[in-house]
Amino acid sequence: MFKPVSPQVDFIEIEKKILEYWEKAGILKKYLQKNNPPAGEAGNSKTKFSFLDGPITANNPMGVHHAWGRTYKDLWQRFFNMKGCQQRFQNGFDNQGLWVEVEVEKDLGFKDKKDIEKYGIEKFVNKCKERTLKFAKVQTEQSKRLGYFMDWENSYYTMSDENNYMIWSFLKKCHGNNWLYKGKDSVPWCPRCGTAISQHEILTEEYQELTHDSVYLKLPIKDKKKTFFLVWTTTPWTIPANVALAVNPDFKYGAYQKDGETLILLKDLKAKILGKDWQETKTFKGQELKGWQYQGPFDDLPRLKNVVHQVVLDKDLVTAEEGTGIVHIAPGAGQEDFRLAKKENLDLVEAIDEEANYLDGFGQFSGQNAKQHPELIIDYLREKKPDFLFKIEKYTHRYPVCWRCKTELVWRLVEEWYIKMNELRPKMMAVTKKIKWLPEWGLERELDWLKNMEDWLISKKRYWGLALPIWECSCGHFEVIGSQEELKEKAVKGWEKFEGHSPHRPWIDEIKIKCPQCGKLTSRIKDVGNPWLDAGIVPFSTLKYQTDKKYWQEWFPADFITESLPGQFKNWFYSLIAMSTVLENTNSFKTVLGHGMVLGEDGQAMHKSMGNAIEFNEGAEKMGVDVMRWLFLAHNPAENLLFGYKAADEIRRRFHLLLWNIYNFFINNALTKKWQPKENEKISQNVLDRWLLSRLHSLIKQTTFSLENFDAFSATTKIEKFVNDFSTWYVRRSRDRTEDDFYQTFYQTLIILCQLLAPFTPFLAEEIFKNLTDKESVHLEEWPKLEEKLIDKNLEKQMEEVRKICEIGHALRKEAKIKVRQPLNKFSIFPAKRDPAPRDNFQFSIKEDLVQLIKDELNVKKVEIKTGRGELKVKLETKITPELKAEGEVRELVRQIQDLRKKNGCRWDEKIKVAGPNWPKDEKLQKEIKKGTLSTDLLPGEKLEIIK
Ligand SMILES: [Zn+2]
Ligand SMILES: [Zn+2]
Repeated sequence: MFKPVSPQVDFIEIEKKILEYWEKAGILKKYLQKNNPPAGEAGNSKTKFSFLDGPITANNPMGVHHAWGRTYKDLWQRFFNMKGCQQRFQNGFDNQGLWVEVEVEKDLGFKDKKDIEKYGIEKFVNKCKERTLKFAKVQTEQSKRLGYFMDWENSYYTMSDENNYMIWSFLKKCHGNNWLYKGKDSVPWCPRCGTAISQHEILTEEYQELTHDSVYLKLPIKDKKKTFFLVWTTTPWTIPANVALAVNPDFKYGAYQKDGETLILLKDLKAKILGKDWQETKTFKGQELKGWQYQGPFDDLPRLKNVVHQVVLDKDLVTAEEGTGIVHIAPGAGQEDFRLAKKENLDLVEAIDEEANYLDGFGQFSGQNAKQHPELIIDYLREKKPDFLFKIEKYTHRYPVCWRCKTELVWRLVEEWYIKMNELRPKMMAVTKKIKWLPEWGLERELDWLKNMEDWLISKKRYWGLALPIWECSCGHFEVIGSQEELKEKAVKGWEKFEGHSPHRPWIDEIKIKCPQCGKLTSRIKDVGNPWLDAGIVPFSTLKYQTDKKYWQEWFPADFITESLPGQFKNWFYSLIAMSTVLENTNSFKTVLGHGMVLGEDGQAMHKSMGNAIEFNEGAEKMGVDVMRWLFLAHNPAENLLFGYKAADEIRRRFHLLLWNIYNFFINNALTKKWQPKENEKISQNVLDRWLLSRLHSLIKQTTFSLENFDAFSATTKIEKFVNDFSTWYVRRSRDRTEDDFYQTFYQTLIILCQLLAPFTPFLAEEIFKNLTDKESVHLEEWPKLEEKLIDKNLEKQMEEVRKICEIGHALRKEAKIKVRQPLNKFSIFPAKRDPAPRDNFQFSIKEDLVQLIKDELNVKKVEIKTGRGELKVKLETKITPELKAEGEVRELVRQIQDLRKKNGCRWDEKIKVAGPNWPKDEKLQKEIKKGTLSTDLLPGEKLEIIK
């Protein structure tokens, strides 16, 4: 017997109860083993679905943006599990890298790297490990709350030995191809974190609108009296590192005179900068300025004593849009500047250290911080060198900040390790094209990035991360170690201190190896690796590439990955493609589904300070995770999602409550009538039942297709439409039905619907399924079987027309202000008599059972259908005869008495006596009332009431 259901439903209570049940009954374990061979037995012949989890950064609790991706991951693994595929169900945690370090530094109250060194690297690294393990646990619990079914005991960790050593082997292979090199470059640098930030890490969202003082400088030209280049910069702290000016050889420059002084700048920008007062005395082509020398304001500082300042030509760097058309070049503090300097063989002036303090040789500036005190340079110019200053202006621009700590970046000349990309680029592009990108434009985005990316900067001067396996000798030679075994073999010192530890700093740094070129003892470079190496290697490390090739071949490439879009083209997708191109020259995944970002309900990025942020736990407790999941799954993944309680409420009403009401209607009716499911599989011939089953099997077909194509958006749209039809048509038109066919059809439909919903809303589906059946769990069921023979497209189409016609009929009633309860005589459907276009051919012909539906729905005695050519027209006869009026009154009475029965808590089969003031005289009508309300007597009384 079914347990009773209340229309007042608390979905969150249900979710908690089901979580407990799953735990107690061991449902997860049974789910994981459903299609897998028992331990110890050989693999089976089941089709595999290879899902590869992009590791979640285990550094904080999981956010609602993670929940979106995790809902997709769960959806498809559940779907393929129901379809009978063997799977690995392995979740991954990303543990290494700067993001963890920064949080640990915060916890310990550290300001910079010196604090870490003082504290001790070993202690610090252990703290990092602790933190990430702690949050891996937190995230596991949160994922379970989301209803995410994974083999949680078997999660992988990017800090594991397998993962790190597999990256070593990758780097060794890069080195074997001559792709690994140490290069000096001017790179974006975070002065707080004390590390380079690779181009791959500077995402669009890492730029902020910032206002800085910009400076117009007058730089005196050598051997020309009182004549100056006018130069503009937005980064005054770089002026001491200036060595050159760049002009565009094709542009026209002018000399402008006022009060005996002459300024040279781009002719087109003169009016904007100088106004009308300055008179043009001469014009030059940029070309002509080449090699001119000038003085800088800091030439008396020791570091700049021997620097020759000169004009160079460059077409790309110099534009006519901003500044003066003459560009300040500081090769030690700008990437393009550095490239130009190499080309033109200019002096290199390095200006700042790791923390952005001026280096020695900069006089009073040495040791002072360039970024914290940008006023240093401007104040100095104002006070000591006013002749060099033309004007200072506030300037607002988009300026990059550190992705981790939001400190403004600087550019520094440093030596870092790179993987050369030029040879890899075309191979990676070919691999990228083998992948199915969802949304489709992902392919272009990835190719575009690959076209433009520079060499991959893989080193970081930090502590907690992959230890780059490079042992460098002072003679210039460097060794790349590819495995733990190779390291042991080559170690000549320090093995005993390292043994038993993970391959991390500081333990790994104990090991010295002998330089094969000169025989000197060499140490590992101090750098750790870019964290995207950690995540890019998982198609190899987690699939046992090095230890069990057969296993790897079975599961590689992954069928499916999914991740949030914006950053991953440069990050995870990129590193996956790069690493599998190097190792196997192929793709490591077949399909990728990208999705947008989660924003607050106001369309802004979620921020605690803005009050629009919702934490996962809070969201789960307040909206429930099934609602949250539907919110994600019913959204177009290509677009950003506005996440909040209003949206959740709408979803809940639109879908979950509607479904619950259908279920509630069924259970309460079945209980009332003591109906029990039957074994017989006889298909009902009732037109509503046939229609519902046809719609249901069409839905199975469509949902299967959508899910096989990784399209949850279409699947949820179709399911919602079905539930809507189920409620507003099938249930509505079946209210008075009591026959077995009706219950049987309703019952079977609900069960199949639960199976279809299991991957989407695992809790709601389980709750309903378990009450309907005595089975253990909907999550141990197979995906519903499609029965093509039950699909009747013609019937579905006709029913749609019937419903449209009924809608028009209702509109006509409304217009005439006649309630549906009032029976009317006739409703006619006919073709309009005018010249029709061929497509308007009116061929409305339906069987009697569909006609009966129209009669019932519109409450008319007769439906008249004429066929012919022309547009469809309908007419409702609105005349109310005395007989029709009496009938209407009877219906109204029946409804009122039924309400009273409910209020009085009468049993469904309980006979009653009713008193009332206005009983109809006609005996036939009296009988109808008695029958419709199970009344034995209609007694006179002052008001309508049930007499017990
Ligand atoms: Zn930083
Ligand atoms: Zn050497």
